[in-house]
Amino acid sequence: MNPLVMPLNIGKDDTFRISWKNRYFKATAALVLPHKISTPEEAGAVIGDAQVVIKLIDFKTDLKSKMLAALSQNSEPAKAGGDIFGIVARLNVKQGKFVGIEDVRATKESAEGGANFLDDSAEVLRLDGTEKQLLIGALNISLTPVVLDSIRQPFAAFDASLTETWKDRDLQSIQADKLVPFQMLFPNGQPIERFVDGERYVIDDLYCTNPACSCTDVTCVVLKFLPHSGTEVAWGGFKWNIESDKLKPLPQFSNKFNAAEWFKQFNAASGFDLKLLLSSRQKFMRNEYIAARRAQR
Ligand SMILES: [Zn+2]
Repeated sequence: MNPLVMPLNIGKDDTFRISWKNRYFKATAALVLPHKISTPEEAGAVIGDAQVVIKLIDFKTDLKSKMLAALSQNSEPAKAGGDIFGIVARLNVKQGKFVGIEDVRATKESAEGGANFLDDSAEVLRLDGTEKQLLIGALNISLTPVVLDSIRQPFAAFDASLTETWKDRDLQSIQADKLVPFQMLFPNGQPIERFVDGERYVIDDLYCTNPACSCTDVTCVVLKFLPHSGTEVAWGGFKWNIESDKLKPLPQFSNKFNAAEWFKQFNAASGFDLKLLLSSRQKFMRNEYIAARRAQR
């Protein structure tokens, strides 16, 4: 099976910053899953040892090009030439520490602002042990509480001890008889998404958190993002019952919405087995979330 790349959603544009070799970089990162995660044990293995790819863009170049773009109406094409580094590293998500460097390569920013790691100008940097340790140190300093919390959110449903920032919300104000969206607690968690003809569809998964109810339904509303405005519209939806493994349509959507087919396609696009992900989230909401709401009373 091919490895799966899962972009990490780390706060705002410049939240994740790395200072390395006396230079300042803006970083973006993605998790690389060795295969689709289908069991809690497999999720636990990744939490203990994850492969992460990190792209570093020279901060100065980035700011400069932004200012130029803002100044000129008939903007000249941005000059190529900023340094971009690509790093493959091992991260212990649980401990919040980078533990190894597998690969580092450098390239130049292209005129379009992209990184050409595949072309001839890309260069593999051979770091010795000391240089690797320096880079690991720099990466670990970059893991501020905000950055680390964002990196951990995709795993929250598998290991509740990873992040507790969601408990800072006013949980008491959320009524027990209302369905609670998982994304409300973990805005940087893993979106369940698929692309059809370049358009993005996302599942908003909602959970019953009424302590007096014992249902095992997961309510999934499929949102479509309109390409230009980014506005979201409810496109379809269904309920998936964990115990019976049955899909039920939601009455407000047309019966032309093929829930089984959408479930299958969302599952195919996800790095986590969809049934594992939804049932782990449901367990989290029933146990951790209800307990935390009680504790705030
Ligand atoms: Zn219920």
